Order: sequence, then C-alpha cells, then structure tokens
Amino acid sequence: MRTAKTPGSARSAARALPRPLGLVPTMGALHAGHRSLLERARRENASVAASLFVNPLQFGPSEDFERYPRSFESDVAQFEAAGVDLLYAPSVDEMYQPNFSTSIDVGALAKAFEGAARRGHFAGVATVVAKLLGAIEPTRVYLGQKDVQQTAVLRRMIGDLDIPVEVVVCPTVREPDGLALSSRNAYLSAAQRAAAPSFHRALESVAAAFERDGDADHVIATARELLESPLVWEYLAIVDPATFEPRKDVRRPALVVGAVRAGATRLIDNVVVARPDGGDPILTPPLLQAAGRT
Ligand code: AMP
Repeated sequence: MRTAKTPGSARSAARALPRPLGLVPTMGALHAGHRSLLERARRENASVAASLFVNPLQFGPSEDFERYPRSFESDVAQFEAAGVDLLYAPSVDEMYQPNFSTSIDVGALAKAFEGAARRGHFAGVATVVAKLLGAIEPTRVYLGQKDVQQTAVLRRMIGDLDIPVEVVVCPTVREPDGLALSSRNAYLSAAQRAAAPSFHRALESVAAAFERDGDADHVIATARELLESPLVWEYLAIVDPATFEPRKDVRRPALVVGAVRAGATRLIDNVVVARPDGGDPILTPPLLQAAGRT
C-alpha cells in the first residue's frame, strides 16, 4: 500500500493504478461498516484507494472535531489488510492551503434535517469530497447508507457538476441489537448504549406501519413513544429519498430518517420503506449481480 500526503502525489499515484479504481472516503476510526465498503470496493475494482481525513470544514464550532476518535496506526493496518492500494491521508494544511475559500452549496437538500441540525455540515462534506474526487479521479466512490442524506447530497453534487464517477451505496452494518455502527458510538454511556437499539426499532416500526397505514403523521406519533430514556428525539420523518421532502401518504419510494440526542452525542439512522416490487431506492446493486455474472 502506498500512502500519499498531498493532492499532487495522490493524483500521480492514482493515475498509475489499473482501472477501474474504487475510492472509499473515511474519517478513520475504522469499524466493520467502513470495512464492508472496502471489501465491496475490492471485489468490484482492479484497484482500491481510500482516504483518511478528519475534515474540519464539516464540523460546527461547538461539535466534536477536536475529540473525534483518531487511531491512525490501527487504521493504516486495517486499510492494508483490506487490500487498499493507495491511502490518501493529507494533513489539514495540505488539504486546505492558507488562502482556501471555496465552499460547495448543494441547495435545499443540504439544508434539511442533518443540514438544519448541523449548519454548514454538508457544504463541508461536498467540498472535501469534490477535492478527493479531483485528487484520486476514481471510477467509483463507495458510500454507506448509514449517512443517507450525505449520499443524496453527494449524488446531487456529482450529477450537477458532471463529475465522471459512479456512486455505489452500501447497506448499513449494525450491531446484533440493531444499533448502526458509528465511530461516535464510543461516546455512549452504558445507559445510553442500553437504550440505543430502541432508536432503530422505532425507525423499523415507522416503516412497517407506513406500509400498512400510510398516514405519516399518525405512524410517526405512535413510533415516537418507542424511544427509551435517556435518548431524546431530534427528528423523525418519512421523506422522498432523492429530495428529502416529507412524504404524507403511501407514495413510494420512501425513506424513514431519524436523529436522536444521547447527552452530547447525536445518533442518526434510517430505514427504507419497502417498495411493492421489492426494489430498494437507496442501495446500488452489486455490479456483478447487476451484470448477471454471479
Ligand atoms: P466516516 O468515517 O464516518 O466519514 O464514514 C466513512 C464512510 O463509511 C461513509 O460513507 C459512511 O456512510 C460509511 N459508514 C459509516 N458507518 C457505517 C455503517 N454502520 N455501515 C455502513 N457504512 C457506514
């Protein structure tokens, strides 16, 4: 595995790799969710690049940028074990030169839900991912459904800016009790961790009830009761998966999105409302299956 620290050295190393090239962007503190993206990228591409960068632009002033978990040595070992060919791990100064001033505004989609709770978050995400795509020039970029609004924002940016990369969205990896894996789960106290599965259960119950009932307000009001203390709702909604506009009736496709507060920690998660034809509006089918070659 080669490690690059600057955009220029990352680009020349990436250009030397056989194509297709898959890119897995991460902020490190790797867990099984990240590893599932790396494995999928490894299966579907001749070469794999990963990035490790805790991006200050996507953290608000009162958020956890300073205390975000960092475990460089163990992350490098895991990237290596996953068969990554090129690791791009720039410092903040290498990523953002002193006169850096660009910010990518994806519009209304980036202002709702996570964008409303974390002002400027998606501008930071879109800007850094545009830079990563510019440095690595991958054939495909691998993203997790866990951060579903992020996948919608990045799809929109990539489409709007004609960036020649395919977006592959991979399923959320969960603990056996349903809690979505997240680097931030490490912040949870024992009481918060014990209550955390009730968040995922509430989302699942919204999806199941919405399929039967179709009255979004009623379904959501009932499911809000399922969240266990000390977790507190920030939002729970049924939305259109592409625009994130609220869904009020049984039109499909639909997505249930939620965020809860556990003390100073925020947890986010989402589940899809099944379509009558069984299709999934978020997940990208594995390429080999899609091509009928399994
Ligand atoms: P992060 O390091 O948190 O920026 O995440 C890097 C990538 O891993 C993003 O595309 C996330 O959506 C994805 N990811 C994070 N947690 C999970 C999970 N539990 N399952 C699948 N993908 C995940």
